[in-house]
Amino acid sequence: MLRRTKIVATIGPRSDTEDTIGRLIKAGVDVFRLNFSHGSAGQYSEVAALIRQQAKRQQRHVGILADLQGPKIRIGGFANGDIELAVGDRFRLDPNLGEDAGTQTAVGLEYRELCQQVAPGDALLLDDGRIRLQVEHADASGADCSVVMGGTLGSRKGINRLGGGLAAPALTSKDMLDISKLAQLEPDFVAVSFVSSAADIEQARELLLQQEMQPALIAKIERAEVVADESMLREIISAAHGIMVARGDLGVEVGDASLIGLQKMLIAQARKMDRVVITATQMMESMISRPTPTRAEVFDVANAVLDGTDAVMLSAETATGAYPVEVVKAMSETCLGAEKHPSTRTSRYRAERQFSGAQESIAMSAIYAANHYVDVRGIACLTESGNTPLMMSRLSSGRPIFALSSRLDSLRRMSLCRGVAPLYFDASAFAEDAVDGAAIEFLKSGGYLNSGDAIIMTRGTIMGERGHTNIMKILSVE
Ligand code: ATP
Ligand code: MG
Ligand code: MG
Repeated sequence: MLRRTKIVATIGPRSDTEDTIGRLIKAGVDVFRLNFSHGSAGQYSEVAALIRQQAKRQQRHVGILADLQGPKIRIGGFANGDIELAVGDRFRLDPNLGEDAGTQTAVGLEYRELCQQVAPGDALLLDDGRIRLQVEHADASGADCSVVMGGTLGSRKGINRLGGGLAAPALTSKDMLDISKLAQLEPDFVAVSFVSSAADIEQARELLLQQEMQPALIAKIERAEVVADESMLREIISAAHGIMVARGDLGVEVGDASLIGLQKMLIAQARKMDRVVITATQMMESMISRPTPTRAEVFDVANAVLDGTDAVMLSAETATGAYPVEVVKAMSETCLGAEKHPSTRTSRYRAERQFSGAQESIAMSAIYAANHYVDVRGIACLTESGNTPLMMSRLSSGRPIFALSSRLDSLRRMSLCRGVAPLYFDASAFAEDAVDGAAIEFLKSGGYLNSGDAIIMTRGTIMGERGHTNIMKILSVE
């Protein structure tokens, strides 16, 4: 059975070899995330080449997502590896301390302004909320804190204030430098961290365009101010190709209890606006050091699937964890399990909506027919840009959307769309009246269709042109 929900896996020291990348793709990774908080374009160029090479070998269209660091709201490094903080310990954040000069009592801070923006009594959360400090005194030279919740603290972990409100531009000079070198990786997606307005997305698009790149932009939603402002949120979603529910920092800023409703709202809003959505952070966290997930983690992933997410994401689980391949398998199985739930297969969504043109009308009609006509095995969608399959996949369905395209960039971009199976098919190689038959034969030979099945076919009359989908047929497979 084809899995509908897509899996994004972060590359790190435990997953950057040819062998592991090959096994990760085999286990079901659809998109690899290269996190620029922990590596540069130069460091990632080899791994990007391995991803392309392994995907090609397995005839899969796998995307690459470059995740820009954004404002460095992070601590510096420790001179002698991880430290242990205990409740009551005193700990100082010191912007004047060297890059890797952290000790048991103090650590550097790359976002120097933090110390000027916090006040005594503020709670600071580190490493996606694992460690909690309380500010006792702060001025431009540093912040003295006491440990409220202790634990192991490693180098360069994120730091954020409970309640949010730290002002820092989304695109830093490091991000701009990273963008200028990104072309060598040919990323399909670029994620912008700590987005606070649509202008951040426009700026990233502009900078990428200057390098002759037009990747799909993903806005990471992780600021309390953004989710508190409905119209700003809509502008951001509209400016981007998709969003990431970045639960790490968002959870720190709004509190985990508020995150439950926000995740559902963000997923619904993105789909409504024809945008894709990734649900991220600590999805199968315990598998960093254990070979199986907890039941709570299984249910967290499943819940995101039921909420309608396009993709679920793994961070440290695949980057630094001991079981990178196993966690992808566990996530894949969990998604398949959740997709058995009837609520994921039908949709009354948009039943009251007016459509904006032939393309949308056909996309919606195709899904409606697929959901209601039992003989239909799937939808074969001949596409250039991938827009029609994207629209189709905004509605829930149990039928696969086979996106047939000869454009590799479109195929890779569709690797993130729920329910869409991107397949290479060159329609221009066939005469106009032979295309339908050839497409059916292609899907049959791939094992996607059998004799006696019905298939919905959508395409345009003028082959090879974008946005021209104006035909929908229901054909039976000989
Ligand atoms: P972000 O805010 O962008 O999510 P992060 O620091 O949370 O950044 P993740 O990619 O989510 O980073 O991964 C979680 C953890 O795994 C990090 O805290 C980091 O220590 C480790 N990690 C991730 N990628 C790498 C890498 N390429 N090299 C070293 N460590 C990494
Ligand atoms: Mg972050
Ligand atoms: Mg993270």
